[in-house]
Amino acid sequence: MCQPELVSAIDSAPPVCVLGLGLIGGSLLRAAVRSGRRAWGYNRSSESADAARADGFDADTDLVSVLQRANESGAIIVIAVPMPAVDATLEAIAAHAPDNPITDVVSVKGEVKAAVERAGLSAKFVGGHPMAGTSASGWAVGDADLFVDAVWVVATDNGVDADVWSQVADLALDCGSVVVPAESLEHDRAVARISHLPHLLAETLAITGAAGGELALGLAAGSFRDGTRVAGSAPGLVRAMCEGNRDALLVALDEAL
Ligand code: NAD
Repeated sequence: MCQPELVSAIDSAPPVCVLGLGLIGGSLLRAAVRSGRRAWGYNRSSESADAARADGFDADTDLVSVLQRANESGAIIVIAVPMPAVDATLEAIAAHAPDNPITDVVSVKGEVKAAVERAGLSAKFVGGHPMAGTSASGWAVGDADLFVDAVWVVATDNGVDADVWSQVADLALDCGSVVVPAESLEHDRAVARISHLPHLLAETLAITGAAGGELALGLAAGSFRDGTRVAGSAPGLVRAMCEGNRDALLVALDEAL
């Protein structure tokens, strides 16, 4: 049975509003609910929202009403869409929930920070990046355990609101992650080497292997499988990640070459 102080800590944790119910947002919604939080989400396609509801979660395709609920309840808003959809998402937040705490899970941090500044939402924004994922996409592949024991970067940029920072860190901890504070640009330089460069190398290896024809692919075993695993990721996500972090990625790629 929960200790009384634990129950009251969970009761006082703010609700969570997740925008984008794909692999990461869908996993986050599941993990937040499992931790005892009140949480709901938005997805632009009705297939994923319907699937989330069929699995017992609170999901909607109406972005305005989802954000109005966040506004009324002081929920922490989590942006879980690909980088190219971030500006439009921020515009909706600025219109319907401009005073809520906001975080995100996007794989590049400098570009999101700049977009948040353009939208005039910096005061309550603290960026985040859970270092967990698979090459699959969509609600169906989400998993409440995805973030357990994973590292979750919470941005420590100049001027971040300490209370919002704590709320983002608490959410990461509630999802089972280990919080690592880092500045956005410092994060981008690091993930260029350990996440974005591996995507380029996996694509290169997949193409080079395939050029060897049927015999080469027929002989491919563990090293080719492991080295090409992330080449199966959705191309749009990889492109957004790599182009969004081009400066740091080019430095890492030059070094690798
Ligand atoms: P996904 O494809 O599984 O889900 C993407 C979600 O964004 C879906 O809900 C989709 O409906 C929504 N979306 C896409 N375009 C949109 C648009 N124009 N307007 C509104 N909604 C839109 O992808 P994912 O892996 O969950 O990635 C989501 C975010 O998480 C990305 O920013 C990605 O960089 C980041 N991330 C991914 C991983 C990973 O390994 N896949 C890990 C950490 C962070």
